[in-house]
Amino acid sequence: MGRRRRKIIRKTPKPPPSVFICPLCGAQAVSVTHEPEAEVATVSCANCKVSAQVKWYPAYTNVDAYSEWYDIVTKGTPEAETGES
Ligand SMILES: [Zn+2]
Repeated sequence: MGRRRRKIIRKTPKPPPSVFICPLCGAQAVSVTHEPEAEVATVSCANCKVSAQVKWYPAYTNVDAYSEWYDIVTKGTPEAETGES
């Protein structure tokens, strides 16, 4: 017995965010700049000015570049480590 209720689950497609949270200062001020045909993207925080270039693959989106950048800025730059071989 009983009536069946259809649950309507509505998915609202959100556009991918273009501004991200900065892991260093916590501000939502990180933007990804990618020039067409460039192999790198520049990701920078407008608040604390931390910025880094990350490799850009054709399949990448801003989110991918941001996560690469996130790793770089939270771990420090691996290239800067010297004398540890
Ligand atoms: Zn920041």
